[in-house]
Amino acid sequence: MKKREFWFLVGSQCLYGEDVLRTVDARAAEMTAAMNAGGRLPYTLVYKGTVKSNEEVTGVIKEANYDGQCTGVITWCHTFSPSKMWINGLSLLQKPYCHLATQYHREIPNEEIDMDFMNLNQAAHGDREHGFIAARLRIPRKVIAGHWQDADVQRRLGDWMRAAVGVAVSREMKVMRFGDNMREVAVTEGDKVGVQAKLGWQVNTWAVGDLVKEMDAVTESEIDGLMAAYTAAYDIATDNIAAIRYQAREEIAIERMLRRERCMAFTNTFEDLYGMEQLPGLASQHLMSKGYGFGGEGDWKVSAMTAVMKAMGRGENGASGFMEDYTYHLADDNRCSLGAHMLEVCPCLAADRPRIETHPLGIGMNRRDPARLVFEGRAGSAIVVSLIDMGGRLRLLCQDVECIKPIMDMPNLPVARVMWRPAPDLLTGIECWITAGGAHHTVLSYDVSAEQMKDFANMMGIEFVHITADTTVEALEEKLMLADLAWKLR
Ligand code: MN
Repeated sequence: MKKREFWFLVGSQCLYGEDVLRTVDARAAEMTAAMNAGGRLPYTLVYKGTVKSNEEVTGVIKEANYDGQCTGVITWCHTFSPSKMWINGLSLLQKPYCHLATQYHREIPNEEIDMDFMNLNQAAHGDREHGFIAARLRIPRKVIAGHWQDADVQRRLGDWMRAAVGVAVSREMKVMRFGDNMREVAVTEGDKVGVQAKLGWQVNTWAVGDLVKEMDAVTESEIDGLMAAYTAAYDIATDNIAAIRYQAREEIAIERMLRRERCMAFTNTFEDLYGMEQLPGLASQHLMSKGYGFGGEGDWKVSAMTAVMKAMGRGENGASGFMEDYTYHLADDNRCSLGAHMLEVCPCLAADRPRIETHPLGIGMNRRDPARLVFEGRAGSAIVVSLIDMGGRLRLLCQDVECIKPIMDMPNLPVARVMWRPAPDLLTGIECWITAGGAHHTVLSYDVSAEQMKDFANMMGIEFVHITADTTVEALEEKLMLADLAWKLR
């Protein structure tokens, strides 16, 4: 994991004299230390001083832009900080930005309060001046209000930090493509130049033949090593050990190429496996469990989104995985959606220890039976996320879902499966999703929240559409129509 930190910048001015500024400085340091000790921030907060002039603001923001570990800046105004001094600096800011609207004291001290207290403790005043300038400059930012000691404030700050990590990971994202998109599929296409300009993703192709060459160079003892890792993590429920060893060979070769090119995500397609005996199944699943993004059928957008969302989760490899809506259960009393994929579902979604099985692929060219992990997804609240290219802009679509224990065994279904009920209910949820143009491929996450995805979209300057328990088709249609107009004006 890369070392990351967030910078805490406190605004003030020279008007108050040295004594007040010393107090501001000491308290900001105390607050930083306490928030770091609170155990709710996933990354270190670094107090970078009290800024009191245009030169100081501009200087520290240039430094933040340049610093490789600084993943975002968090500002707060203990006193009043006239915000014209922030214009030049904020105009240059390239890192995610959060405005923490807090104050040192929790309660107004009835007996103690006088005008000296008011001058020192006027965040309610200073934070409004500070907020105006970011609004005036149209700078995307997160505003979090509350007392800095409150668990909920620290938790929200931590959640925002993870969204900012998504931004950092996105800006460095490299996707390795083996083959193109599945023939004739529309939603997995997109403007790679536009996406790189907007999100930073470098999406390029490598020859399947080069992967096969890399596979041929993998040794039996290397395969033995990976087989031990498979055995430690999964139950082997097949006699076809050769098929598992073949997947290990594929995984080692793919990872070698990913590492060599510093790629965090990859795609392939069952239509382009020339020289390979099996579509990578277990191989892709185990790579995903390590944090790599994956998209089937050449879907580079979902592959990169999977890697970004994994990195936004716990330990920068959270429970987020590539998913596909397959089929519905439309019985009146128990409607739900069944998600799976041809093979490649990440074991981070599993309720129990996955089994390695081998079955025929049943689609595409005649390949040897690929080994894959089979399991049920776990129950719990989650989101599904889809990034689509609307032509001239990207739309990030997010839907709240409730994952459930699959309502039947499906003993002949040879792939991992997850069942859920989308918000607001299955049928309205489907209507909303289709109305908004969401793909069949998604990232399903138990770990990243819709608010974090909204923050990510905000920071990246892309459209965000959220389907919740309160969404109606009619309201959504109107929102999409207005968004279309608004985005044309940008
Ligand atoms: Mn698919």
